[in-house]
Amino acid sequence: MRRLSYVVLAGLLAAPLVARIALPTEPPVKAEPRSEVIVGCKETKLYHKADCKWVKEIDKAGTRVDFKSVAEARKAGLKPCEDCKPGG
Ligand SMILES: [Zn+2]
Repeated sequence: MRRLSYVVLAGLLAAPLVARIALPTEPPVKAEPRSEVIVGCKETKLYHKADCKWVKEIDKAGTRVDFKSVAEARKAGLKPCEDCKPGG
């Protein structure tokens, strides 16, 4: 009996610890300071800030691709525009 109660006790003590370890330790999600849209161009393979002068041209050409972030545009293989320097 003594042994059994020890096992139960050990289980009770370990349970909260295990639960804590099992939880993913996510860092607090940092909210983006500004939700800026990144505008990419399929033709030039460049990405721009939404207020860049080239965005109008991209819209005209119909080669616009929107990205949620610079990282996403980069992942798609696009390069930053040298005029508006997005994410710089
Ligand atoms: Zn630009």
